[in-house]
Amino acid sequence: MHQTQHNKPNLNSIGMTSERTRRRLIDQVRKMGVTDQRVLDVMFALPRQAFIDEALSNRAYDNISLPIGFGQTISQPYIVGLMTQTLFNRSRSKILEIGTGCGYQTAVLAPLCDEVISVERILKLHRRARDLLYDLRVRNVKFRHGDGFAGMKEHAPFDGILAAAVSENVPEELIEELAVGGRIVMPVGRDDHQVLIVVDKTSSGTVQHEIETVRFVPRLAGLG
Ligand code: SAH
Repeated sequence: MHQTQHNKPNLNSIGMTSERTRRRLIDQVRKMGVTDQRVLDVMFALPRQAFIDEALSNRAYDNISLPIGFGQTISQPYIVGLMTQTLFNRSRSKILEIGTGCGYQTAVLAPLCDEVISVERILKLHRRARDLLYDLRVRNVKFRHGDGFAGMKEHAPFDGILAAAVSENVPEELIEELAVGGRIVMPVGRDDHQVLIVVDKTSSGTVQHEIETVRFVPRLAGLG
């Protein structure tokens, strides 16, 4: 298993990556279908190398997922952009994020909405992301250590819910905690076949549709 060495956020190299390198990534993400300019602007401004191990920093602006330790990965930038754009097509106030990981997706969501509640089951990832986003001056996020698929009753209802780990189905708790007019964006399926789905809650129930085939790490039970 890949082990990350740093416990402190890797802030040393922030600002070192050229505008050209960051622009190239954003151009790729746009070409693949992320057209929301606000999402692209936030991603362009964000130092992705701060979220990963220094040993991998030469790949920080490649459009790929990378290991972040504990068997987990930072999501592919295109997928982060796609999920954010899809979620914010509907609402941009209170968002529940399941699977904080390194906090990169959290840092893309935060400037674009009022408040993010971000849940991670692995304590060390939860703490590391919390400290990094604090250092990056992101203030409208509440970080929680726990099982995000069980929902977060004390903060519900949510206008949007985004999950970064694949689940076999959409947990009933999440539908219950979604506001009418709200939207869930999450991968469902199994290891060998996963699709990114959208669930919209209306006053008469839910409407679901698929966006595209994806590959996420599995949802895990219990705490790590
Ligand atoms: N967007 C994150 C993705 C991390 S990978 C990033 O770019 O870094 C998915 C994360 O979901 C992992 O950190 C994993 O530990 C977490 N996870 C898996 N099951 C979970 C659960 N039941 N509750 C909360 N987090 C969970």
